[in-house]
Amino acid sequence: MKFDCDRCGACCKNIRRSIFYTEELDRGDGVCKHLTAENLCEIYSARPIFCNVDAYWEKFLSEEISREKFYEINRDACARLKKIDRQD
Ligand code: SF4
Ligand code: SF4
Repeated sequence: MKFDCDRCGACCKNIRRSIFYTEELDRGDGVCKHLTAENLCEIYSARPIFCNVDAYWEKFLSEEISREKFYEINRDACARLKKIDRQD
């Protein structure tokens, strides 16, 4: 099973809103420096674990909550980010 990300890029364009924010990824305007013009991650296979819903759940949360519950939490965050993205 994989999280059904639609590659909208809203999370990668709003990294300052993440609890995992790190200056290292910020190109200077809150957009991740690894996001391409096509909304793809140029380091996808080596992206940080907090950018990978499934790997994050498997490593840190599989004993705490179900994968489906974690997907729900992430879908909710995605929906909120998409709204912000449309306003910008
Ligand atoms: S906001 Fe959600 S759906 Fe959009 S790219 Fe990020 S993880 Fe995928
Ligand atoms: S590393 Fe990749 S997946 Fe993570 S925020 Fe940057 S562009 Fe998005």
